[in-house]
Amino acid sequence: MPSAAASSPVGGRSPESRDPATGEVWKRYEVADADAVKAACDRARAAQPAWAALPARVRAGAVEAFVQKLLARREEAANIIARENGKPVGEALGVDVGVTLALAEHFAKVTPRFLKPHWQRSAALMAWRKRVALVKEPYGVMGVISPWNYPMFLPLSSALPALLCGNAVVNKPSEWTPGIAELVRECLLEAGVPADVYQVVHGAGATGAALCEHADKIFFTGSEATGRKVAAACARRLIPCALELGGSDPAIVLADADLKHAAAGIAWARFSNAGQTCVAAKRVFVEASVFEPFLAELNDAVRVLNVGPGTADRTDVGPMIRPEQRTLITAQFDDAIARGANVALRLATPEGDCYFPPTILTDVPAGSRPMTEETFGPLLPVTKVADVEEAIARANETTQGLSASVWTGDVARGVAVAHRLQAGSVVINDACSSAGIADVPHGGVKSSGLGKVHGDLGLQECVRTKAVMVDWFQSWRQPWWFGYSRAHRDNIDAFLVAAHSGSLWARVRALPGVLRLVLAPSRKA
Ligand code: NAD
Repeated sequence: MPSAAASSPVGGRSPESRDPATGEVWKRYEVADADAVKAACDRARAAQPAWAALPARVRAGAVEAFVQKLLARREEAANIIARENGKPVGEALGVDVGVTLALAEHFAKVTPRFLKPHWQRSAALMAWRKRVALVKEPYGVMGVISPWNYPMFLPLSSALPALLCGNAVVNKPSEWTPGIAELVRECLLEAGVPADVYQVVHGAGATGAALCEHADKIFFTGSEATGRKVAAACARRLIPCALELGGSDPAIVLADADLKHAAAGIAWARFSNAGQTCVAAKRVFVEASVFEPFLAELNDAVRVLNVGPGTADRTDVGPMIRPEQRTLITAQFDDAIARGANVALRLATPEGDCYFPPTILTDVPAGSRPMTEETFGPLLPVTKVADVEEAIARANETTQGLSASVWTGDVARGVAVAHRLQAGSVVINDACSSAGIADVPHGGVKSSGLGKVHGDLGLQECVRTKAVMVDWFQSWRQPWWFGYSRAHRDNIDAFLVAAHSGSLWARVRALPGVLRLVLAPSRKA
């Protein structure tokens, strides 16, 4: 299995643990080439049936043990995340480790019940003699391709339920956060998951692309551009994929909102993780009558943020993960300014090639890059709108539809607005949080993805559902079997009338024909 090594290429998108605050590369990892990925999938495929044959409670026990292993190493895990991703250690502890622990506990608890075959009677008249079991079976080998922004709970959002459902998992973590993927693997193996049942293959796009050639289903989390490539690769092999892609999430501030609360929430939702969150508040639309006071509150909330290395206790906003991410957000900022946007606030940053100053922009034109592309950094356009109708129209004008937030003193009004937003989730008087709650399904619409993670819908993504139909009467011929005749045709006709006619009298008159059809054994073959 590929693991940490010192022989891999340096720079570019080769896998390495690099501190964004200092630029120090503190560990390098061996790249898994196409052959290594195939070998990992072959091992996983060989090991999976025995794992799937274990009672679901035993697999749940391993995930419960994983919770304890990770809890014991939580400080180490949070520090690795801070030193690979740049975010504050406390944020890594609360969001990355905290969400992972909650997800693991939730899925360990609910999956054994979820997997029990569900027996049901069909309401269809032609199935009156039958009962049906819905049996949930693992796919086999799940390929989990994950990004760097929440490098622990994002891959585990699909990997843990996949394991619990009896799949083997091969994870291709981001080449920028390989170290935390190794810690997760160690915790799972120590908890009793067999080494071939949970594997990690390191590398950049080529390694991910190879995984798409050998896994039985792909769970992909990352950018829209890469998601389209993954979808195409899966389509070529006709294997399913679930895609959690980018977002350009709107936050709508209505005139009746608690403006201080909205400003504090939106400040966190945009600037935490240095703005590198899929469900971050990326475009704010404020009703005109409260625009100025809201902007003042937002400036107050952001002005006090400390920008610095994630390992410093007082840091609120760390560096971005890599210089190329800063270059991208700088280009989006420059485009907005060139088209007439104004800077409402821009904080100072320490020296370093990954820092982008947390920035609030106003008067950002609708066609500019921050309004039409996903901004993945600490840059926030705040736009004045005439009323809620304009806010909804502006919110829906992007091609993406991951999540959204509505800030209002009237919850019923907020819910009504939520119904009209094109998004996979909408949070009222908070933002981002729905994406980190174990039993709330998460996943976008439009170009933000396909499928869900979390909740029963997330579990459903980890299994194939097989319908097993059993007939009560083993030797009784079915009415639709051969032995066709004029009388048989008339009886079928009677059945259609009895089943579907709007006239009660016609249905009653058709009953004798139905009985003749149902008593098929008396029919000549
Ligand atoms: P990315 O698309 O660059 O990379 C994601 C993963 O795909 C990485 O592991 C990468 O190595 C791999 N990859 C690259 N090319 C590949 C290929 N051709 N085939 C297979 N795998 C390939 O994304 P990123 O920069 O790591 O992450 C940021 C993006 O992820 C943002 O757009 C963000 O919004 C999105 N995201 C979405 C969610 C969600 O839940 N919807 C969550 C987190 C991040």
